[in-house]
Amino acid sequence: MDDAVVVGSGPNGLAAAIAIARAGRSVRVLEARRTIGGGIRTDALTLPGYAHDVCSGCHPMGVLSPFFRALPRAAHGLTWVYPPASVAHPLDGQPAVLLRRSTAETARDLGEDGHAWQRLFAPFLHDPHALLSDLLAPLRLPRHPIRMARFGLQGLLPATTLFRARFRGQRARALMAGCAAHSILPLERPLTAAVGMIFALTGHIVDWPVAAGGSRAIGDALASYLRHLGGKIETDRPVRSLADVPPARVVLFDTSPAQLADIGEPVLPPAYVSRLRRYRYGPGIFKIDWALDGPIPWRDPRCLEASTVHLGGTLDEIAAAEAAVWRGEYPERPFVLLVQQSQFDPTRAPAGRHTGYAYCHVPSGSAVDRTDVIERQIERFAPGFQERILARHVMRPAELQQENANYVGGAITGGVADLRQFFARPVLRLDPYSTPNPRLFICSASTPPGGGVHGMCGYFAAQSALRSLKRLPERLDPLG
Ligand SMILES: Cc1cc2nc3c(=O)[nH]c(=O)nc-3n(C[C@H](O)[C@H](O)[C@H](O)COP(=O)(O)OP(=O)(O)OC[C@H]3O[C@@H](n4cnc5c(N)ncnc54)[C@H](O)[C@@H]3O)c2cc1C
Repeated sequence: MDDAVVVGSGPNGLAAAIAIARAGRSVRVLEARRTIGGGIRTDALTLPGYAHDVCSGCHPMGVLSPFFRALPRAAHGLTWVYPPASVAHPLDGQPAVLLRRSTAETARDLGEDGHAWQRLFAPFLHDPHALLSDLLAPLRLPRHPIRMARFGLQGLLPATTLFRARFRGQRARALMAGCAAHSILPLERPLTAAVGMIFALTGHIVDWPVAAGGSRAIGDALASYLRHLGGKIETDRPVRSLADVPPARVVLFDTSPAQLADIGEPVLPPAYVSRLRRYRYGPGIFKIDWALDGPIPWRDPRCLEASTVHLGGTLDEIAAAEAAVWRGEYPERPFVLLVQQSQFDPTRAPAGRHTGYAYCHVPSGSAVDRTDVIERQIERFAPGFQERILARHVMRPAELQQENANYVGGAITGGVADLRQFFARPVLRLDPYSTPNPRLFICSASTPPGGGVHGMCGYFAAQSALRSLKRLPERLDPLG
């Protein structure tokens, strides 16, 4: 009997398995698909010679994750490729705004709000890794309470409120709105300011990198290290019931709460199962990958310096678009998040050619084709873009969920992270990774600190499982 089985090999599943193996316990990962990685896979989605990130493309959280930073990544084949800037935010009739590592350089792009920008971020940049270790953690007594309080008091506000109050001009407000829209919430909701501040802050710590060779390299490096520690990984092993789980003392689910409810139902109390089933996933996404015959022809060519481009115009425009999606509508000018990987990693496309992807948020489970509106939004800031397209590959929510059962209705970050579900994720419990059954745990992005490729959900779930392993009796029956 293994000490632990992890169901799912996403970044959190692999992080959990590594943390368990590092504690000297035996661990086996079961992955439903033929390939490992979940949200960190790279595939030939368009033409031969083009490598596309199927899900995650840009990795501020991956490079800054307190857990990943402690792992020997280079020895296992992961190299980050850094762009000169993290984010470009084009605006109509004026130069784009760029989020650069230096707050002074970023401030120069912000005109009248330059000083206000520096004043907002300076207090958090003295020892940013300490702050991140509190932010990328479950609700607990912070290790750095004063800085967390300062961050939290502002972050709890809606993005629209905080950024309209702190900035007078469109440029700074727009840059923050683009960062806050990663929350996939209406920007009038509490906590969206925190998401904006975290993303902008990461851009001042590190230029948001892509992984050399594709995001797949992150999963491969984690898997290689796990095997080095003695962990086992089995692919083509979908777990549909506890009978599919080989004998193990504890099982960690890198899955949605819905799947934990279905699979764990026989050994979990009905009240807990029904709370898991009430978990909210929120809007989905519509994603396009392109093979391009050249770089994106941005009207402001400085946009080519950034790994990520936020398309949506002003704060008011982005807030209106995100609120519309939340109401189940389809804005004509959606907020579009674009990554241009091959601009920095030439291995992604044949010489002189390029890859890129973009997505917009859509109502959960939507079947509506958003190709036109996404490409029009890019054309708005990069006239001639469509003429560069050699091939495209489209994914709607249904296809995303078929790829990975965790993306319920096309939701890509493990479920709504509003005031309630940010802290009570997947349900309100002192230890959110544990379940009422001391042998079952959840370690996916549907636990704190939520979505993104950082592995911190897996790391904290592993700590919870390791504590339980110490308390469990020596002789145990199989769970199934
Ligand atoms: C289009 C897109 C773009 C994104 N962009 C970014 C980005 O740029 N930066 C970033 O940091 N994050 C990004 N994300 C989010 C990020 O990918 C996820 O938050 C992250 O992958 C979550 O990791 P996880 O380990 O919790 O789950 P996942 O990565 O979803 O992995 C879960 C794994 O479990 C497997 N599994 C599920 N159910 C079962 C089962 N019953 N039996 C066996 N195996 C099972 C799945 O096949 C999958 O391999 C993006 C996501 C998407 C979809």
